[in-house]
Amino acid sequence: MSIADNLLKYKKELSAIDVELVAVSKTQPVESIEEAYTAGQRIFGENLVQEMAEKYEKLPKDIEWHLIGHLQTNKVKYLAPFVTLIHAVDSLKLLIEINKQAAKYNRIIDCLLQVYIADEETKFGLGFDEVIDLLRSESFKELKNIRITGLMGIATNTKNPKQIKAEFYELRTFFKGIKESFFNTDGSFTEISMGMSDDYKIAIEEGSTMVRIGSGIFGKRAAKQVKKSQTED
Ligand SMILES: *Cc1c(COP(=O)(O)O)cnc(C)c1O
Repeated sequence: MSIADNLLKYKKELSAIDVELVAVSKTQPVESIEEAYTAGQRIFGENLVQEMAEKYEKLPKDIEWHLIGHLQTNKVKYLAPFVTLIHAVDSLKLLIEINKQAAKYNRIIDCLLQVYIADEETKFGLGFDEVIDLLRSESFKELKNIRITGLMGIATNTKNPKQIKAEFYELRTFFKGIKESFFNTDGSFTEISMGMSDDYKIAIEEGSTMVRIGSGIFGKRAAKQVKKSQTED
């Protein structure tokens, strides 16, 4: 199946249940993104700042760019002018920098807090108590150029669907509690970004509002390209 065919299949499935599709185009050439764009896709997710900025320059300006990977403080300035949503905010320090750069461009940048739900050592993210501490802190309350619109999580990379389901359930339950405690009067705290090509169906069952699909749309990423872009970061 072509990129357009894959995309339309996901779009049909997801629009019926009002779940947003982020097409994860990391390592993919501009031509592949153009193909998805022509098929109607407007939201693309990248995990490296430099790669995203280069693609932003080359592609139509009505694309919404989501940064889905870990963000280093010193790279915020490169995406602040144009990024639509930052999925993986995992510290107050990073949030303060995003706020500072957003202010320079007179923008309010939407962010998700990445919550650690996986049973793995390598994944970034905040623990439940860290999310609460961050939202309670005085310095957070002073930030006027960022807006927290929800939470994001990555499940353990396992073949065990029960475990994945339990982790997504945990994130959804935590989201509800956080919404009640901190965003009760704020209608913009609505997103739960969870689910990738292999586990998006489980994520949707557990209340995902936004899935991040890469290989399911563009095909398997070439190992060589992945390695190259990692060393460039
Ligand atoms: C690469 C990536 C995805 C997409 O993964 P696929 O398995 O190709 O769908 C989703 N989320 C994050 C954070 C990623 O880095």
